[in-house]
Amino acid sequence: MTHSIRGRSAVVTGGSKGIGLGIARVLAEAGARVAILSRHGAEAKAAATAIGHGAIGLGADVTSFAAQEQAFAEVARRFGGIDVLCANAGIFPSARLEEMSDADWDHVMDTNLKGSFHSVKAALPYLKASSQGRIVLTSSITGPVTGYPGWSHYAASKAGQLGFMRSAALELASHDITVNAVLPGNIVTEGLADAGADYERTMKASIPLGRLGAVEDIGHAVLYFASREAGFVTGQTLVVDGGQVLPESLQGLG
Ligand code: NAP
Repeated sequence: MTHSIRGRSAVVTGGSKGIGLGIARVLAEAGARVAILSRHGAEAKAAATAIGHGAIGLGADVTSFAAQEQAFAEVARRFGGIDVLCANAGIFPSARLEEMSDADWDHVMDTNLKGSFHSVKAALPYLKASSQGRIVLTSSITGPVTGYPGWSHYAASKAGQLGFMRSAALELASHDITVNAVLPGNIVTEGLADAGADYERTMKASIPLGRLGAVEDIGHAVLYFASREAGFVTGQTLVVDGGQVLPESLQGLG
């Protein structure tokens, strides 16, 4: 399975750190040519240098369609095309409902939901030309499966990605492009470090497999959806959470 990605060109938005960097590293180590996109071009370039395998880094904000369009054109020029889009860029600032402003709501939606639309739309001309067109969205368990106080805007954006995915999968099926989503549970990333030690401790206690996820756990799920062998799978979700959403009660944790 992992071999069919060899020589394919993949773009990872939000690939400069965290889950995106894990996805980029797994794809690059499996032989893909990887382009890392994030707002800060220098960080994207440094991440590309760190993973090696000919990866490149570019600055491009997912909230701007023009920026995405320009970056994807540059990647296609340098790699000769684009086969795989990993729409991963996302933010998760916390705000309880009473304090949440319209600007807070819009910032999360513009990045997580509209940003996915922007990168998918910018990738389309290249994915249509590919013989292995793949779109893999990074959603979350939060929203599609669970909820968390302070993250109502985030949860709505992550559930929204799945509605977007299902309709996009239908639209793009005639081009042999698949659209799927991974739903990470709690994964150790730089971003999560801001949530604090208490958050990490309680989360770990609620995960049946007894650990938080590694970014590579998500990378391997993405690699499956990106592979040639997953060519008959579209519009689907894969929860990667160590079993966190399974227990019906605390006793269910065994
Ligand atoms: P992270 O460590 O904070 O990394 C976020 C990445 O997205 C960075 O590369 C960041 O780079 C980029 N980014 C942020 N805003 C952007 C924008 N407007 N345009 C382009 N790039 C942008 O976060 P993470 O934990 O890896 O999360 C990645 C994805 O996984 C998100 O979609 C998140 O919702 C999802 N997720 C994470 C977890 C978890 O436990 N960590 C769980 C479920 C789902 P710049 O700052 O340079 O732009």
